[in-house]
Amino acid sequence: MSNAESVLIVGAGLSGLACASVLDKASIPFLIIDKSEEIGGRIKTYDYDGYRLDAGFQVLLTSYPEAKRFFDYDKLELNFCYSGSMVWYGDCFHRLSDPIRHPLKSLSSIFNPIGTFGDKIRIGLMRLGLLSTTSLQNDTSTLEALERLGFGTSMIDRFWVPFMGGVFLEKELKTSVRKFEETFRLFSKGNTAFPRLGIGELPRQLAHGLDKNNFLLGQKIKAVTSREIFFESGDALRGSHVVLAVEGSECERLLGLEITTSWNSVECIYFGLPDRVLPSREPILYLDGEGAGPINNLFFPGNLSDCTPKGKALASASIIKPSGKDTEEDMVNAALAQLKKWFGASVDDWQLIKRYQIKEAIPKCTKPTIQELATNGIYRCGDTSGLPSLDAALKSGRLVAEKIIEDRN
Ligand SMILES: Cc1cc2nc3c(=O)[nH]c(=O)nc-3n(C[C@H](O)[C@H](O)[C@H](O)COP(=O)(O)OP(=O)(O)OC[C@H]3O[C@@H](n4cnc5c(N)ncnc54)[C@H](O)[C@@H]3O)c2cc1C
Repeated sequence: MSNAESVLIVGAGLSGLACASVLDKASIPFLIIDKSEEIGGRIKTYDYDGYRLDAGFQVLLTSYPEAKRFFDYDKLELNFCYSGSMVWYGDCFHRLSDPIRHPLKSLSSIFNPIGTFGDKIRIGLMRLGLLSTTSLQNDTSTLEALERLGFGTSMIDRFWVPFMGGVFLEKELKTSVRKFEETFRLFSKGNTAFPRLGIGELPRQLAHGLDKNNFLLGQKIKAVTSREIFFESGDALRGSHVVLAVEGSECERLLGLEITTSWNSVECIYFGLPDRVLPSREPILYLDGEGAGPINNLFFPGNLSDCTPKGKALASASIIKPSGKDTEEDMVNAALAQLKKWFGASVDDWQLIKRYQIKEAIPKCTKPTIQELATNGIYRCGDTSGLPSLDAALKSGRLVAEKIIEDRN
């Protein structure tokens, strides 16, 4: 448990856990508090009806620099996605492959209707670093950057919008070009991976080495000072430092600042299907190149991880910018109608397993700025500290811990 020398970390998502694990290695006492009964924040995997379900479709890019530092990839038993996607357009799927890793498959798709010949050459040039957006201002949108690179509408609307839209969780591609550049570079440098037991293994692995007595779960914090935290229950705790590792908007609220963080939302619907009607065992992402929706992207997670009961397969469908007005029945029926177009009559055997509606999934990132490590003596970390990603969360937690270690010496 904690004493007045402990660092009090509010938030047991990746940023809080990264901060705790760096402090722990330096033998600095800490207490990590979360309002949820479980660790992981936005990264959780739930056991449900024999399935293992990630709360939203998330992937680990093995080239994330901080992830390499914090995680033991072998113990996560990572499996990798195909570098490319299947794009639905004009009544069938078209394969789009990474030209460097799959040159032959890439060549065979050069004349498909997902972009022009010139657009495919442009992707190749970007992969080789011969075409880039680094000269563009931070507040340039990804859409504008793609247009300036010379991509035509058939490539932007049919590939970039569903693909980057699925990463940013917004389909207008208003997200800053800096996030686009980072994402493209990281996808190119490494693999897109899933831990065998689900994405929730990431926080679980970080917490594994930490003493359970240093966790206080199911306790919401309502106010903080630079040395004290106040629980909703009315209790208070004093420590050597206070770290806010909560979501950006909650952090601003606790610091009494104007709320500037806004969010991109997503809905993830899981369908269970008999293994015998699984459309493909290839670990590849399916994209809606027509923009007709409601599903933007679909993946069969059982092709890469152990997440299904025997004889069953699983489909994870992501819906971006759900209207919020649809009933569950309307949304599920619309999704199934789209899937029937994609995969045919066997979709009659698919069944709704679970629907996750995530309003605060990824902070919007239109004008990236550098966030101070502390405000009024209160430390802050989390994915709003950088270009939002799980890696930015890890990095910010590490930097705050290193600053505290420096302060104490
Ligand atoms: C559906 C979805 C898909 C995503 N896809 C990807 C992806 O593919 N790749 C990628 O890199 N990133 C992805 N992300 C983003 C990634 O999950 C986040 O960037 C990362 O998990 C953020 O970690 P964090 O520690 O900053 O915040 P969080 O995980 O949000 O942790 C904050 C913690 O603070 C706690 N808390 C908040 N307020 C209080 C309070 N008052 N008192 C006590 N506790 C409090 C919360 O309960 C929570 O546990 C995705 C996110 C979602 C939701």
